[in-house]
Amino acid sequence: MKTGSCLCGSIRYEIESEPTDCNYCCCSICRRLTGSAMGVYGMVRKSEFSWLSGEEVLNSYHQNTNLERFFCSNCGSFLLSVHALDSVNCYLSLGSLDSHEGIEISYQQFTDSKAPWLELDGSLESHREWPSWIHERISK
Ligand SMILES: [Zn+2]
Ligand SMILES: [Zn+2]
Repeated sequence: MKTGSCLCGSIRYEIESEPTDCNYCCCSICRRLTGSAMGVYGMVRKSEFSWLSGEEVLNSYHQNTNLERFFCSNCGSFLLSVHALDSVNCYLSLGSLDSHEGIEISYQQFTDSKAPWLELDGSLESHREWPSWIHERISK
């Protein structure tokens, strides 16, 4: 069981199992979304994710018809992505976790789109765009 929160602490959540497929996404969308070099995400089963508090300040941005990004309307922390075509999993913004014990990054994606000032970790599995296997899991 892990917990996490937004910056102001209004929104808290818990997950019943460890995030899997943890990754860096260096695409231009995640760069804008986070205001930083990359998005850092882990996959969590929807059935194992629950909001504990703050749902009254939870807001979401529909990036497109299928993709919804949840954030705190008080402090702006971006916490979770939900894809309508993925009925099983959601994608947690790992920086919002309270404890990072046991979290390991498996790969980095969209390395072709990275900001020029970002130095990538050469030892990580890298994908220039989506990993080829991801379409089996998510329909875009
Ligand atoms: Zn907040
Ligand atoms: Zn991205």
